[in-house]
Amino acid sequence: VDSDFARLIGLHENAAKLYHHVLMNTQVGEAALTYLHDRGLDDETIATFNIGFAPGDGLLKPLFEERKVDYQLLRSSGLFIESQDGQLRDRFTNRIMFTIRNASGKVIAFSGRILHKDPDSPKYLNSPETKIFHKSDTLFNFDLARKEIRKENAVVLFEGFMDVIAAYSAGVKNGIASMGTSLTTDQIGILQRVAETLYVSYDGDDAGQNATHRALSLIGEHSNMSLGVIQMPEGLDPDEYLRKYDAEHFRAVYEGAKETPVGFALRYLARGRNLNNQSEQLSYIEEVLKIVAGVPSPVEQDLYLNQLADRFQIDKASLKEQLSGLRQSKK
Ligand code: ATP
Ligand code: MN
Ligand code: MN
Ligand code: MN
Repeated sequence: VDSDFARLIGLHENAAKLYHHVLMNTQVGEAALTYLHDRGLDDETIATFNIGFAPGDGLLKPLFEERKVDYQLLRSSGLFIESQDGQLRDRFTNRIMFTIRNASGKVIAFSGRILHKDPDSPKYLNSPETKIFHKSDTLFNFDLARKEIRKENAVVLFEGFMDVIAAYSAGVKNGIASMGTSLTTDQIGILQRVAETLYVSYDGDDAGQNATHRALSLIGEHSNMSLGVIQMPEGLDPDEYLRKYDAEHFRAVYEGAKETPVGFALRYLARGRNLNNQSEQLSYIEEVLKIVAGVPSPVEQDLYLNQLADRFQIDKASLKEQLSGLRQSKK
């Protein structure tokens, strides 16, 4: 017997094949294919991720109707938008289609990206919640990344689908992303089961740094994974960095630019502060010491104290004294 679950997945698998076919083999998909090639994706990567194109006039409705697929099933699939009078039309039109797969590799949803900037239309449009797609416990690329995550005992959390795909094509294959919304505790639980270490590799811009700060505290609160931050130089996102340089430089950042959460916090708290101003210096140092006080390892604490002492020309003994005061008042 075909449960709704299996039938919905069947529809998505079918749709993914069609979108991919339109992208690779038809004139309608040509501009989208050129766009993806220009963004550095080769055909192998496009096939691996089953990327496609949804044409402007809609593709799925006539096809599924011709195949006499049950109307209620179509309605509940998330692939259509229903008008007032109950008519269905394709939800995704004129978009590059990224497949969202579950942990077993089955297509359960899509995210469609517009080809050209358009202020009236969101850059990415995701499938709605359905019987087979729950945003809060879905991780983009988890099925492909899992083996590598286990092997390295580490997972890299990216902000965008294109970052995951770019990293994968450059040889960093343990990358995943949440669904455009912020990270959830369910997703953290899934990751905790497969790796002891998690690196947050969000965009280098302000939004990315704020999101990194939030993600680190949420993960710290809900798991005992060991955490790190990998941020691309120049305020770039990982995909932009790879395109600007090359796979070798990209991998070098992944090997070499790992920051501790406290190291990140030191940088994060310094943003927007004028650290030439003495009172801002003092409030910065105070905030940093509060964070350092929570670090269990004395050696790691020492590392940050040295950094502060160097940077602000302060006697390390005074920093230590202030720190021990903080630790006592915590008890
Ligand atoms: P691209 O490189 O294709 O421009 P990006 O991944 O760099 O995309 P960002 O603007 O950095 O895009 O956003 C990060 C992620 O947030 C996206 O991958 C997507 O999942 C999600 N996102 C961005 N814009 C929207 C939107 N308008 N609606 C829903 N999700 C969005
Ligand atoms: Mn971003
Ligand atoms: Mn980005
Ligand atoms: Mn990007």
